[in-house]
Amino acid sequence: RAKAEARGSFRFFEPEMDARLRARRELERDLREAVAEEAFDLHYQPIYDLSAERVCGFEALLRWRHPRRGFVSPAEFIPLAEELGLIVPLGEWVLRRACLQASRWPDELKVAVNVSAVQFTSARLISAVRDALLAAGLPGRRLELEITESVLVANPGTTTAILHSLKSLGVRVSMDDFGTGYSSLSYLRSFPFDKIKIDQSFVRGLEASDGSGHIVRAVIGLGANLGMTTTAEGVETADQLQRLRDEGCDEVQGYLISRPVPAADLPALIRRFNGERRAIA
Ligand code: C2E
Ligand code: MG
Ligand code: MG
Ligand code: MG
Repeated sequence: RAKAEARGSFRFFEPEMDARLRARRELERDLREAVAEEAFDLHYQPIYDLSAERVCGFEALLRWRHPRRGFVSPAEFIPLAEELGLIVPLGEWVLRRACLQASRWPDELKVAVNVSAVQFTSARLISAVRDALLAAGLPGRRLELEITESVLVANPGTTTAILHSLKSLGVRVSMDDFGTGYSSLSYLRSFPFDKIKIDQSFVRGLEASDGSGHIVRAVIGLGANLGMTTTAEGVETADQLQRLRDEGCDEVQGYLISRPVPAADLPALIRRFNGERRAIA
């Protein structure tokens, strides 16, 4: 009887499933087209160095200019791009574009590029990075790649080799969204990361006294002991900033400092933060 009911309810939801399937097929078609036409932009969010009291770089964040839906969030289309095998060409476009734009900034500013697990372990990664740097004339030391813990869990062996090849190009590597994946602390010891990015969920928790404060303190201490820079993501309030400063966090990033902005807005942003060496709070 349960089976019959289940079947009945399945039939009941069919039209809706149909609509969802159609919407997804449409999105797939649009994404393939967008990759072919490079219908994307990069927005940039400043990363602020707390001891230097200056912006030290920008994180490139991908935006899809969808013809009917406006800007579509990467959270929505990156997983789809991975599934459709489009992430490698898309990721290489991001690398080339970010390096080229960064080559026009003052030399002290780095650019951080997010790299998906699929792209990171693809055979083309190292040559794609080298090509993007060469084409832009950007020194490797000005590029940071951000990867998430999922890369390590799936391919610990290859990851180590890739990290060392990147280091030989002078490129730095950051562990993004730290604390949200399934890796263990011992990964931090085994892999030569330059930076740990503390996930915004822990920063948000700083005001909730839900234990996040202890985690943030522990990660900052761990980073310091392992010689890694710590960056807090998603900093939105002056209170969060003060806590992070007190704990000795190296860098912050979040709406409090600035939302991600189009490349055209960067000169004004750089002038605002670094022109007069003005402290943020
Ligand atoms: P992420 O690398 O952890 O980037 C930080 C995300 O937090 C960005 O979302 C950023 O806009 C957002 N954010 C920054 N400050 C704040 C804040 O104060 N409050 C809140 N609530 N959010 C803040 P976005 O741009 O939607 O990107 C989402 C994710 O998509 C990124 O997370 C990254 O994992 C991925 N992504 C973005 N661009 C690329 C790309 O070029 N390639 C790949 N593979 N993934 C990308
Ligand atoms: Mg990131
Ligand atoms: Mg992150
Ligand atoms: Mg994140």
